[in-house]
Amino acid sequence: MADIPPKPWPTGEAEQVEPLVKRVLAPNPSPYTYTGTQTYVVGRSGGPDCAVIDPGPDEPDHLNAILDAVGDRTVLAIMCTHTHRDHSPAAAPLAQMSGAPVVGCAPLVIKSDLPRSDEAFDTTYAPDRVLEDGEQMRGTGWTLTAVATPGHTSNHLCFALEESGALFTGDHVMGWSTSVVIPPDGDMGDYLASLEKLMAREDTVYHSAHGAAITKPKQLVRGMIGHRRQRENQILRLLGEAARTVSDFIPEMYKGLDERLIPAAEMSVTAHLIDLEKRGLAALEGEVWKVN
Ligand SMILES: [Zn+2]
Repeated sequence: MADIPPKPWPTGEAEQVEPLVKRVLAPNPSPYTYTGTQTYVVGRSGGPDCAVIDPGPDEPDHLNAILDAVGDRTVLAIMCTHTHRDHSPAAAPLAQMSGAPVVGCAPLVIKSDLPRSDEAFDTTYAPDRVLEDGEQMRGTGWTLTAVATPGHTSNHLCFALEESGALFTGDHVMGWSTSVVIPPDGDMGDYLASLEKLMAREDTVYHSAHGAAITKPKQLVRGMIGHRRQRENQILRLLGEAARTVSDFIPEMYKGLDERLIPAAEMSVTAHLIDLEKRGLAALEGEVWKVN
């Protein structure tokens, strides 16, 4: 995890990141959100219409900043990459204020009763239309294509801006840290497959929900795939030394970790272990993991 840069951050101020894209930073910095969630407004400045990607937390100041960035344009769609609480709760109030439909990822289907951080999910999210992989939303001079990228969450979508070659990557690939994969909804096998999916694309830049624009996308994604493989090898090596519980892995794998991030690290290790179990390489007995 990267350190958060010193203040001030451009919270509440729309930044023009490319001709068709404005970025608005929400006031929700934390160890999980970096300087905060970045909402994107897509469409020509002075044009008739736009879309809003990841409206963010339901904060009046942030909603006002989004509406300022929208200006006189009609919002044709409010699009969410996924339904973590730092991404989608502003969709409903923004829909009410703008009259726009909520279009994008599916509401979350909870797969099992395993312990998980329910508080991370926005259970109020109710889209007017769910986009499947490859489906598009169009406005004047802009086209956004949904790219299904499950892993960080099962419902995660990226959105490709066809006119510029940019990809809005939500939390799948971020500009500041590797993505957190929290089982059972988060799935490490799916996450790696979704990274490989991006490797097969020719996007020119990534705009993620947290952190700076990524101008060498393939280089970063290749590095992330390598990082996950390295983690997996580390886990297999530690399991080979001795059977152990999830928390036993943390001091070995995450030296000097901010203690607020220990639960996330444990979830990430669990995600790897579940993936290894699915592949027949690890087994769980009670709380103890061992090589299979
Ligand atoms: Zn997320």
